[in-house]
Amino acid sequence: MPCKYRTGRVLGSGTYAVVREMIHITTGEHYAGKIISKRLMDDQHLLTIPSEINILKRLSRKHENILTLVDYFETPNNVYLITELCTGGELFEHILCRKPAFTEHDAALVMRQIVEGVNFLHMHGIVHRDLKAENCLFKTPAADSALVIADFGMSGIIGAADSPGGLENNRTLTTHCGTPGYMAPEMVLKMGYGKPVDMWAIGVVAYFVLCGHTPFERDNPRAEAHAVVSCDYAFEPEDQWRHISPAAQHFIAALLIYSPDKRMTAKQALDHPWLQGRTRMIMPPVSPSLPHVDAPA
Ligand code: ADP
Repeated sequence: MPCKYRTGRVLGSGTYAVVREMIHITTGEHYAGKIISKRLMDDQHLLTIPSEINILKRLSRKHENILTLVDYFETPNNVYLITELCTGGELFEHILCRKPAFTEHDAALVMRQIVEGVNFLHMHGIVHRDLKAENCLFKTPAADSALVIADFGMSGIIGAADSPGGLENNRTLTTHCGTPGYMAPEMVLKMGYGKPVDMWAIGVVAYFVLCGHTPFERDNPRAEAHAVVSCDYAFEPEDQWRHISPAAQHFIAALLIYSPDKRMTAKQALDHPWLQGRTRMIMPPVSPSLPHVDAPA
């Protein structure tokens, strides 16, 4: 079958995939094409391709903060996922460039969209497992552009859409994956985990969006892992955080909690005063509920 698309400029790349602009030859519509190289993947990673397609198919066009899958096809060497084209860039670049400046109010609007998207995923029994600022894309370059969650290559399915999703589901998944710096303690410690890993990552993204660096950055991976499992972070440098509301700091503190069962759920996060625009509230203290843990090997 002749290819329906002409390939354009490179938009991004990962370990096994390159993402390029794709132009539909008949309609002239522009899309993004994630071209996944089957030859570069081992058997375990090959299994993630049908899962990514299934999850995108299941969720596409159902929520405005989830990337839309338009088409997919396979050639002997590659799998192509054709999705909506996001022209506004990654949240990551946006924060690092800060052009125009990102206010706390902007940050709350962005975080609300991420939490809305994750709440939708969790309601459908899906854990993203690789939430980070690089995987949140602005649909357009407009200042008030909507934001979508992308890259479901590591996502896992925990239960059927209508599963009750009790606390036992917080331990169902075991595959060790994710991005260091965003990984929750239970993932770093290779324990069973579930939806709360996404909520931890949201805490890290919120911290990053507000100050431009992540909370557990250390000189080496071992020190970083130790900081994560000890919930060892601070709202520093102080001159930067002094201007950030207690509600924003409370939002982060209620997510960077050691115990997955005590972390805010997506639904609770949506009701948090910071995402509701109530930044002047006096917030109660949050305990990171730390057990004694040894540094991972
Ligand atoms: P990988 O799983 O290999 O990391 P991603 O799906 O995360 O691949 O895509 C890699 C990068 O490509 C993203 O971080 C982003 O910069 C860019 N990208 C991905 N999808 C789109 C899209 N729909 N529109 C614009 N850019 C995209």
